[in-house]
Amino acid sequence: MSKVKAFGAQSSDANLEELNIERREITAEDVKIEIDYCGVCHSDIHQVRNDWKNSKYPVVPGHEIIGRVTQVGKNVSNFKEGDLVGVGCMVDSCQECDSCKEDLEQFCENGATLTYNSKDKHLGGHTFGGYAEQIVVDKEFVLKIPENIDAKATAPLLCAGITTYSPLRHWNVKKGDKVGVIGLGGLGHMGVKFAHALGAHVVMITTSPSKSEDAKKLGADEVLISKNEEDMKKQAGSFDFLLNTVPVGHDMNPYIALLKRDATMVLVGAIEPLDPVHGGGLIGGRKRIAGSVIGGIKETQEMLDFCGEHNIVSDIEMIDMQNINEAFDRIVKSDVKYRFVIDMKSLKN
Ligand SMILES: [Zn+2]
Ligand SMILES: [Zn+2]
Repeated sequence: MSKVKAFGAQSSDANLEELNIERREITAEDVKIEIDYCGVCHSDIHQVRNDWKNSKYPVVPGHEIIGRVTQVGKNVSNFKEGDLVGVGCMVDSCQECDSCKEDLEQFCENGATLTYNSKDKHLGGHTFGGYAEQIVVDKEFVLKIPENIDAKATAPLLCAGITTYSPLRHWNVKKGDKVGVIGLGGLGHMGVKFAHALGAHVVMITTSPSKSEDAKKLGADEVLISKNEEDMKKQAGSFDFLLNTVPVGHDMNPYIALLKRDATMVLVGAIEPLDPVHGGGLIGGRKRIAGSVIGGIKETQEMLDFCGEHNIVSDIEMIDMQNINEAFDRIVKSDVKYRFVIDMKSLKN
């Protein structure tokens, strides 16, 4: 085992601070990565603050990890020292269940091992994420990062990116479709970029008129202010697909009214109770509400390659590790465009 520097929280009401964690020695199947950058996801805050009542302390968050390979095990042939790689929300799964066999490790029936706060199969205890100098990961869960795009701005692709790309692909969004992206935050800004790159007519649906200009810069063709009932009525029944990135419980009925017959709205943000849905809104047009979470490793690689081809990265604000507590507070206030990324060199100071 080796001790590495990290940043974590010792309890749900504590700030994050520097601490040491253990990483395992690499096995024949492992890749050792020196972490250059780590994105800051809203889930990091939920886990630190124990919002989902399953946190184990210390929590070392971080599942948008970008770095360079420093060592590989003897059975690793697809990565070598110096490669630019990424690690997202999962570091292991059973590899045997139907979901794993279908490249859908995120739905592993025996429970995927999440990058942090999951049971650590190797060391016991729980896993520690990317707010650290290094990480050791099974080769099957390491992703290749295209070298032609800005490495630090690729970090959020590993969670925010795949979370929005996967449903757009699964529901076959294509050229000419009218796609609404509800909510302009970390997820929403990636949803707009991907839907635009797939050739859709993209409508940003937001409560804040102040976000209009930014949404158009990101690739939205139109902006629909959801508080404006007149405008919502005009667009009723016209959407082929809705990507709902709202991170908290809310009233979905006005959005259901926007869907065409047989169209689907996919939830990717709110992991909590939602307001009651009126059955009539769904029954009337054979409409669907669905959910989606990240994507499998194969699809995540496909998304990264797509980003390399289409020159897609996240819009980010860089921070030092020491400023993480302030960054958490700003995320809670939605005061970031659109993702913080930690420069992990700051941890070496
Ligand atoms: Zn995340
Ligand atoms: Zn499995």
